Amino acid sequence: MRLYSTKNTTAFVSLKEAVFKGLPDDNGLYMPEQIPLLPDYFFKRFKEYSFSELAFEVSKVLLQGALPEDKLQDIIESSINFPAPLKTLAADLHILELFHGPSLAFKDFGARFMSQLMSHFNEDNKQELIILVATSGDTGGAVAAGFYDTPGIEVVILYPSGKVSMLQEKQLTTLGKNIRAIEVNGTFDDCQALVKQSFLDQALCKQLRLSSANSINIARLIPQSFYYFEAAKQLADLSKPVVFSIPSGNFGNLTAGLIAKKMGLPVHQFIAATNVNNVVPTYLNTGIYTPRPSVRTISNAMDVGNPSNFARMDEFYCSTWNNMTKDITGFSYTDEETKHAVQEVYKQYGYLIDPHGAVGYLALQAYKAQNPNIQGIILETAHPAKFKKDMEDILNQAIPIPERLAILADKQKEAHYLDPDYDQFKSWLLNNY
Ligand SMILES: *Cc1c(COP(=O)(O)O)cnc(C)c1O
Repeated sequence: MRLYSTKNTTAFVSLKEAVFKGLPDDNGLYMPEQIPLLPDYFFKRFKEYSFSELAFEVSKVLLQGALPEDKLQDIIESSINFPAPLKTLAADLHILELFHGPSLAFKDFGARFMSQLMSHFNEDNKQELIILVATSGDTGGAVAAGFYDTPGIEVVILYPSGKVSMLQEKQLTTLGKNIRAIEVNGTFDDCQALVKQSFLDQALCKQLRLSSANSINIARLIPQSFYYFEAAKQLADLSKPVVFSIPSGNFGNLTAGLIAKKMGLPVHQFIAATNVNNVVPTYLNTGIYTPRPSVRTISNAMDVGNPSNFARMDEFYCSTWNNMTKDITGFSYTDEETKHAVQEVYKQYGYLIDPHGAVGYLALQAYKAQNPNIQGIILETAHPAKFKKDMEDILNQAIPIPERLAILADKQKEAHYLDPDYDQFKSWLLNNY
């Protein structure tokens, strides 16, 4: 497998290099040189495969020998090891639950696969690898759980003090072992600036082997294509056109769907569902792309004003608006509309949908109003209990917390408190590693 940068289509790197570097030097994004079609036998048999077998078959074709098959199998089995069940609310209305992993959000798929892949590529290296991540909440939990106890890899997570929820903070600060948290007396942007400056510090990079677990890493994108197949597998009837509604922020999830389609999965349409941070729906409706600062909403994991994966989507369609609109339709919603949707889904179907999934629900309803003869799948990107307070305010009743989240509340937080000062951060790194 070879990858190129969206900003330079003539230079290639290996999967290993793309995974460790994260971003090409030219600031583009890595794209696979080829996205092959799956063989006929796959589609003949795919209803009989388990989720991990499906993931193995898809990754084998996509990665094209980038690692030995038995290694790939091990990686799949230890990362794609929780289910993605399809729940049916009504005829032609389904929910794909992607929150059954350790941090209760779909980001677990990407983080776990990436940690296993990095650990494999890191095997021959004597020097430990240090992963630096800045988080505004959800990514940190998935990365912490995904890399926990991975041999040869240390993880440093920087988060803004007082700006993540109590449970999110506990997900980062209670694991111990190779996971360390830095509580920064500042904003998410301060955290990100500290990480960026470390990568640019050549003296530091000579002493420590640094890498990132950024959301645009190709190793996080690849496993997200697997569950589109897993969803289709669980549909009783594939003859009716299938539409995926995807609550989106940075558009990694939707881009992974485009990979699945290119590999042969029959998808009639993708719906780009956003909150008021609607740069992509606006582009799909008008052809004009204008990134802008993000606005805070209750579906906060989608508060992105300049979605990084748009460069990959654009590349898929050769920068041709007209082509993209054939496959992707965009809708966006306010917080008021989202809250009503949470209430409606609970009242009509007795289902607790979180605010992100609710945006996907609204967009699917809007699409269906114009295209009635389809079956729709909403990606439910996080467990509703992750947004307990908002959910309880919206529904005016208590909602249950799953055991694995509840036990976090009693665990002892351990974090190093730091001002957003690069010299202090650097000496902390050098003293600890
Ligand atoms: C990260 C996240 C999203 C947005 O996913 P993208 O791939 O960035 O579009 C949506 N919902 C939840 C709960 C998330 O954590």
